[in-house]
Amino acid sequence: MGKVSLPLEGGCQCGSLRYSLSAPPLMIYCCHCANCQKIAGSAFVVSATVIETAFAFIKGAPAKTEWTSDAGNERYGWFCPDCGCRIAHGQTPSINILSLRAGTFDDTSWVEPVGHIWTKSAQDWFRFDEALLTCEGQPTDYGPYIKTYAAQERF
Ligand SMILES: [Zn+2]
Ligand SMILES: [Zn+2]
Repeated sequence: MGKVSLPLEGGCQCGSLRYSLSAPPLMIYCCHCANCQKIAGSAFVVSATVIETAFAFIKGAPAKTEWTSDAGNERYGWFCPDCGCRIAHGQTPSINILSLRAGTFDDTSWVEPVGHIWTKSAQDWFRFDEALLTCEGQPTDYGPYIKTYAAQERF
């Protein structure tokens, strides 16, 4: 696979909301927490961790919703006010990091999770790849995820 070029672009299902990302993600993983399952209407979410200042909406204005995460953090989510598609999550106060829904990139062919978090709330039928990283809950140290992701050398 060739190198991915920046900036990356993506958007919501209907196209009202478009974004640009000017720096590579720090890591990509699957989150199986109860909130992600509910938000995605699915078994897990594929999340790309990106630097907040490298991310910008270039079309449309997102709507915002807020909640307390399974780990107890004050989180917010940006979504399209027209189609409801969730784009990214951030934290208050800011930790300069956003969790971008990796499925919203225009090109997802390079997206490959390095591991799974919140495996304790994963659906029983899900089979984990033993070669990937796993964490029962919220990792206290994302170092191994970041290191493994960097080793993919996608950018
Ligand atoms: Zn939309
Ligand atoms: Zn989650």
